[in-house]
Amino acid sequence: MTSLKHTRYRQFFPSLNGTNQPFAYLDSAASTQVPEVVLKDIEQYYRQGHANVHRASHSFARHATNAFELARKTLAEFIGAKAQNVIWTSGTTQAANLLADGLAHLVEEGDEIWVSELEHHSNLVPWQQLALKRNAVLKAIPVLGNGDIDLAYFRQQLSEKCKIVAVAHVSNSIGATQPIPELSRLAHQYGAKIVVDGAQAVAHLDVDVNRLACDYYLFSGHKLYGPTGIGVLYGTEQALELLEPSVFGGEMISKVSFETSTWNSLPYRLEAGTPNIAGAIGLASAIKFLSQFPLKERLSHERQLLAYALQQLKQHPKVELIGEPMMRVGIIAFNLRGVHPQDAATLFDQYNVALRCGHHCAMPLSHRLSPEGSIRLSLGLYNNQQDIDQAIEAIDKIMELFDE
Ligand code: PMP
Repeated sequence: MTSLKHTRYRQFFPSLNGTNQPFAYLDSAASTQVPEVVLKDIEQYYRQGHANVHRASHSFARHATNAFELARKTLAEFIGAKAQNVIWTSGTTQAANLLADGLAHLVEEGDEIWVSELEHHSNLVPWQQLALKRNAVLKAIPVLGNGDIDLAYFRQQLSEKCKIVAVAHVSNSIGATQPIPELSRLAHQYGAKIVVDGAQAVAHLDVDVNRLACDYYLFSGHKLYGPTGIGVLYGTEQALELLEPSVFGGEMISKVSFETSTWNSLPYRLEAGTPNIAGAIGLASAIKFLSQFPLKERLSHERQLLAYALQQLKQHPKVELIGEPMMRVGIIAFNLRGVHPQDAATLFDQYNVALRCGHHCAMPLSHRLSPEGSIRLSLGLYNNQQDIDQAIEAIDKIMELFDE
């Protein structure tokens, strides 16, 4: 079993067991550390024969194709989907852009696209640009003072004019968790499609796309104990069929002449060019790594640690929490009284505590809740009580410097 003091997960992560100890890595919302087995599986793939997928008939190509497609199945099962509903992307950002381009034909002048005020720029700017291109209106679901979205306002304002709703499952700035099933219900009631940015959710919640009832769900491998450069765009069959391809090239075509081209079937139609084969294998390996631990145990470890960190920060006289959402996972934003977050970031680093400071790629939310930015503490499976205590000790030392 595992406890807050002695988490059994940490031993699997080589970067947290090296010589630069004790190092409190509290920046998993940016990227998670990678377990040994993922490194090994990626290396083994290259060692056993690296080849392109779906093309040649030699044994290296067969091996690569099998591993790549098996990885797709692993990812699909992880979120309760079927393999053909999983499109490989380079990450959440590319997935959101594929959607904004692929759904452009649904949006006409005067139509509305709704995003929430707490979106990461990757689930905001693609929709903003689409709205600008189509003379449509980008509308924001406002955020209340505690960091939750104003659902009542959204309910009141939503109409048939809305074609797309794009919301984060979990906010990357403050960890607020959105009521996705209800948002899906509302979007569908008006005939709109709902896009859910799951970048901060998949590693920390039990994600089942059927329960969420969304049309699209996006996430990145590097926040899920996998490598960078790989991510997933899930869509229901009907929702994926709606997407017009916007990236053209090999793999995504069926027939090509100089005059015209026809498209391959799903999921390949949306995967132009050589995919990140080793990345997909590495991400599937990360999922297998996670699956060896009971989900309840993993989630409970993170919940307890989050509660501990919140309690420690709340009772610290120099800490100001940013946002107190009703439901939160994995992330806490705060400021130190009288200290600019950027100055704090540099000092935390000196005390071997990795935190992130700034607007966290969510400027509208930052302007609303903490115009100067904030310090973000985010958790991974490998964190323990010692990491939080080290962060609190660093806060004490930083405040001593500023109080002098
Ligand atoms: N959405 C959210 C909520 C995120 O936290 C991030 C990464 N910080 C992204 C989107 C973008 O992910 P990526 O950079 O991997 O495409």
